[in-house]
Amino acid sequence: MDALNLNASYDADFVAAVQAQSGQNVSLCYQCGNCTAGCPYTFVYDIPVSQIMRLVQAGQKRRVLESHSLWLCATCESCTTRCPNDIDVARIMDVLRHMARCEGYAPEGAVKAFWDSFLESVRKHGRVFEVGVVARYVTRTGRFMTDVDLAPRVIPKGKLSLRPHPIQGKEEMEKIFKRFQEQGGCL
Ligand code: SF4
Ligand code: SF4
Repeated sequence: MDALNLNASYDADFVAAVQAQSGQNVSLCYQCGNCTAGCPYTFVYDIPVSQIMRLVQAGQKRRVLESHSLWLCATCESCTTRCPNDIDVARIMDVLRHMARCEGYAPEGAVKAFWDSFLESVRKHGRVFEVGVVARYVTRTGRFMTDVDLAPRVIPKGKLSLRPHPIQGKEEMEKIFKRFQEQGGCL
């Protein structure tokens, strides 16, 4: 990682926002590295999760939000379970991913495309409509052959419906999305 001038690029608002949105005190992290040691995705991360924590403490907003790691995290919560200071590290990763998405950082474009497609589907149908998610995903990414080999096996088993299932409480789901946006969340 390149050397950073921490004083010049410290963003206090970023640190405060991460703490407010996650409900976690990032200053409790003392860089023991337990989270990184247990993270199953460290091998593909550009910045290990313990270093993400350090960069958040240091207020390095851009460096954090442009990280690929945020989009490769599986939210497995191993880091949270292993932290000796009871920091919900996975929650912080989640908050950072939302921030990155809202502020236009998406170095893993295909992952973001899936997120967007999933959220749109839930908003529109009240629950996920798998075929619709895949259709949106391949349209956005051009990956028309993604998992196409699975279709002949899952469709005969009734695992994929070609039409969305109606659900009760669809309007309530829409209200959740609306409330989220009214409170400043971005979709
Ligand atoms: S939640 Fe994410 S960062 Fe934490 S251990 Fe799992 S994959 Fe790694
Ligand atoms: S396990 Fe907790 S204290 Fe240790 S580096 Fe990770 S976040 Fe920091």
